[in-house]
Amino acid sequence: MGRLVVVSNRIADPRKTAAGGLAVALAEVLNNTGGLWFGWSGKIVDHSEDDDVHIQQAGPVKLAMVDLSKVDHDAFYLGYSNGVLWPVFHYRLDLADFDAGYITGYRRVNQLFARKLAPLLRSDDIIWVHDYHLIPLAAELRALGCNQRIGFFLHIPLPPPLILAAIPGHDWLIRALFAYDLVGFQSKADHSHFCEYIETEAHAQDMGDGRWRAFNRTVQAGAFPIGIDVAEFNALTEAPEGREMYERMRREYSRRKLLVGVDRLDYSKGLPQRMRAFREVLQRYPEARNSATLIQIASPSREDVSAYSDILHELESLCGSINGNFGELDWMPVRYMHRTVARARLPGLFRASRVALVTPLRDGMNLVAKEFIASQDPENPGVLVLSRFAGAAEQMREALLVNPYDIEGTASAIQLALQMPVEERRVRYEALMKTLRRFDVHWWCDSFLESLAKAKAEETGTPWLRL
Ligand code: ADP
Repeated sequence: MGRLVVVSNRIADPRKTAAGGLAVALAEVLNNTGGLWFGWSGKIVDHSEDDDVHIQQAGPVKLAMVDLSKVDHDAFYLGYSNGVLWPVFHYRLDLADFDAGYITGYRRVNQLFARKLAPLLRSDDIIWVHDYHLIPLAAELRALGCNQRIGFFLHIPLPPPLILAAIPGHDWLIRALFAYDLVGFQSKADHSHFCEYIETEAHAQDMGDGRWRAFNRTVQAGAFPIGIDVAEFNALTEAPEGREMYERMRREYSRRKLLVGVDRLDYSKGLPQRMRAFREVLQRYPEARNSATLIQIASPSREDVSAYSDILHELESLCGSINGNFGELDWMPVRYMHRTVARARLPGLFRASRVALVTPLRDGMNLVAKEFIASQDPENPGVLVLSRFAGAAEQMREALLVNPYDIEGTASAIQLALQMPVEERRVRYEALMKTLRRFDVHWWCDSFLESLAKAKAEETGTPWLRL
């Protein structure tokens, strides 16, 4: 295999353990090939003329970063990526802000990335582009004469064609995917939405084996559900910080059953619906009062996008009213924290919890669901209540699957989870662990890269992108 080049909006230093499973898995392959990781530096600079590439060596991996101007960052990141693509791809047309200027900023930054990356490339490099910020990157690289193998992985969901078609410029976006050799999705559902879209909107020809022909190119597409680093999670659970957190939580809540929710504070995560379902549990099942505590941790996220401050206020007021209505002097039903928890402490928190509530309205995969299961004590495991609308639900059938819009149905599932006997908890846990071990983050990385090594689009030459 040639050198691996990873391109993503944000870069994580692969030497830092806080970077998480994905960065660690990518770093492993990057280390083996002496690879390059290219992306935004995270810095916003005053003048767009200062667009030098900053190079840093992180062990055998080279990190190459560009700064963005404020205008570019606003249109590309806040505007098009998080004001249009994020909500629409999560089925939230009502939250999309279709400002016409955003798409040109989005394209401008993809062109900047391509212009800065192209001179760093070798002819036998294998390039792996990540996520919705960079959909047109391969097309821009091709326009500069790059013929390398290029793969794309979409970490968020892809909606059905009629939702996708609401985006002005949707045809341009999807056409841009045909500049890749391989396009990967999180779930079979996302992959089938892509197939439906290109068949109906672009009259693509099905060439068999996941290959599609349109716009004079053949692209390979498939589902590659992302996994976690199970070994890393086991190690974190056993490490002093993980154990200490576990002991502390057990001591603190020895008389109570803990429920846990850990999310970015995002409207896709279904947090208000989750709180309403928990309130319903307290209302309907008096035995849960004084005996169940929900710890909800929601880390601050994209606070400069307005839809995010609305969800913050809604959540705060719901938590306040549940505590006000049900709380006792010695028991608060909900402990809500608007912050990030250190990664090393998460497994201890998960292990001390009887139930995890992972109830997004829509989610590409949801790694918290997998991390919760991987942290459990095999002899006395907790129960996962999982939204059927998370990509993870395709793989994690032994969780208690719920429809998060159905507050009463979710409340019943939470009560079932709180009451579930240990034998049933073990059976479910073992089945879930089997899947997690088999389809871990290394499987994801290897299977994508193997498919990319085999896929080579046949091109008959076409001028690429006209916005
Ligand atoms: P998303 O990518 O939409 O944020 P995922 O569940 O797929 O959702 O991934 C989130 C990652 O971030 C997981 O590894 C999870 O442990 C971590 N994470 C999410 N919320 C928090 C939090 N409040 N504190 C610490 N880590 C968090």
